[in-house]
Amino acid sequence: MRIDILTIFPEFFSVLDVSLVGKARQSGLIDLRVHNLRDHTHDRHNTVDDTPYGGGAGMVMKPEPWGEALDEIIGEVSVGAACDEAGPDAGPILIFPSPAGELFTQKMARSLAEEPNLVFGCGRYEGIDQRVFDHYAAAGRVRLISLGDYVLNGGEVAVMAMIEAIGRLIPGVVGNPESLVEESHEDGLLEYPSYTKPSSWRGHDVPAVLLSGNHGAIAAWRREQQLERTGRVRPDLLPPANSEPAAKTRE
Ligand code: SAM
Repeated sequence: MRIDILTIFPEFFSVLDVSLVGKARQSGLIDLRVHNLRDHTHDRHNTVDDTPYGGGAGMVMKPEPWGEALDEIIGEVSVGAACDEAGPDAGPILIFPSPAGELFTQKMARSLAEEPNLVFGCGRYEGIDQRVFDHYAAAGRVRLISLGDYVLNGGEVAVMAMIEAIGRLIPGVVGNPESLVEESHEDGLLEYPSYTKPSSWRGHDVPAVLLSGNHGAIAAWRREQQLERTGRVRPDLLPPANSEPAAKTRE
């Protein structure tokens, strides 16, 4: 997968040189390129923002640097082999992190992990001039994606979180693919609690069923734990049939 990131803070992304994403870059599974939006400005101060039309506090990111930078990246990506193979609808997905976007989910991460090209645009200040989204939405696939119902200073941290979530789902990035299956949100529920050695620590014992060797009993216990935890912490995730018993557990 090729991933392009546009930002005014390229240095943020040095952490993507380490851990699993770093290894995936080294092995060529992920081709990640970080671009400085200020390289697409043409004034002495490399200005990327201006005051909002209609008044109000803060500054808005100007459309021109975004247009120039995105045209260049899309042009480069579109002549690449991956796009040619994927057919005429293909082209990179442009992802703009935004608290006003659709909520990022594991399901979304799975679907984005199948794309050959993703381009992330990191907003700052009060965000990006709306016409940038409108312009590229007309030409291709634009998504505004929120990490959650809170406001960050910029899109960089949100993009890093999304790349971690998407990157680990690209085949080959995580050594044992089975470890991706039994995880929170994969089957819609939160994961059961995990334990390792020693079997007793500071007076806390590992649940006996996990030491029993009885795989059926272990699977049943884990399922029960998933439902209990999800009902207690995130009842909104429970399928309707399970809502009532889980609510009782909380009392
Ligand atoms: N004025 C914007 C609003 O109220 O929707 C918030 C702008 S925020 C200070 C600056 C940038 O941070 C946004 O353009 C976006 O890129 C990023 N950002 C902030 N919160 C985010 C969130 N919850 N999810 C994803 N990106 C976020």
